[in-house]
Amino acid sequence: MPELPEVETVRRGLEPVVAGRMIVQADVRRAGLRWPFPERMAERLTGRRVEALRRRSKYLLADLDGGDTLIAHLGMSGRMLVSGAMVGAFHHALAAPEKHDHVVLDFEGGARVTLNDARRFGAMDLWPTGDLEAHRLLAGLGPEPLGNAFDAGVLTRRLKGRVTPVKAVLLDQKVVAGLGNIYVCEALWRAGVSPLRLARDVSPREAEDLVIAIRAVLADAIEAGGSSLRDHRQADGELGYFQHSFAVYSREGEPCRTSGCGGTIARDVQSGRSSFHCPVCQGRG
Ligand SMILES: [Zn+2]
Repeated sequence: MPELPEVETVRRGLEPVVAGRMIVQADVRRAGLRWPFPERMAERLTGRRVEALRRRSKYLLADLDGGDTLIAHLGMSGRMLVSGAMVGAFHHALAAPEKHDHVVLDFEGGARVTLNDARRFGAMDLWPTGDLEAHRLLAGLGPEPLGNAFDAGVLTRRLKGRVTPVKAVLLDQKVVAGLGNIYVCEALWRAGVSPLRLARDVSPREAEDLVIAIRAVLADAIEAGGSSLRDHRQADGELGYFQHSFAVYSREGEPCRTSGCGGTIARDVQSGRSSFHCPVCQGRG
């Protein structure tokens, strides 16, 4: 499932293709994905120019010149494919239609962007740009983890007094937007804080370490996505998925990578999700 770095990688890959360009044709091939598409979506997209392509949490936001923003979420299996365009060093031939191509946008200049989503948990909606905070998917989202509004003070206040695992607080989208299971596990390991610890027992100093670790794991993953775009993925026009190397995620039973630790990565299940951690350098909660 795409997390924030994957969505940011997609945004960076799409931006040079769509920003400033007009959608000359929109082909909407089904009534919706996870939810119904907005009414007359194809008609409302056609002839509109993309003024900017932004990201909020795991949502792509394409601001259109008519005053609406196209909100897109990749769900579990969504992919954005670029074809018919020159992007970086790669020229993509116009893609032949595939089974799960649900929305196809043709841009002036010949680029085509296709949303392909086999499992159909993705979403698209159109909403007034000036009122996006009121959209049900965006309302109540906490600060961006890479933005200035998220810092140790904010996190300390959200952890204070809470008798819930620190991991659950970090996954709470109202506390910080866009973090998923993988990067929360990685950040907790980097900060040396066990996912099993109660939020109220995390010190302000550890909260500061957590903020630094969260920013670092996301920045590293975005950097890896950028390298991947430059190297090979972009060659076939598919954006968003790349090889990661995780320190703890999915490494149960393997040696901890903290130098001199000697611990073995453990897996505990919290709220139905796997928490990978090192009981030695992160402690036991
Ligand atoms: Zn360790």
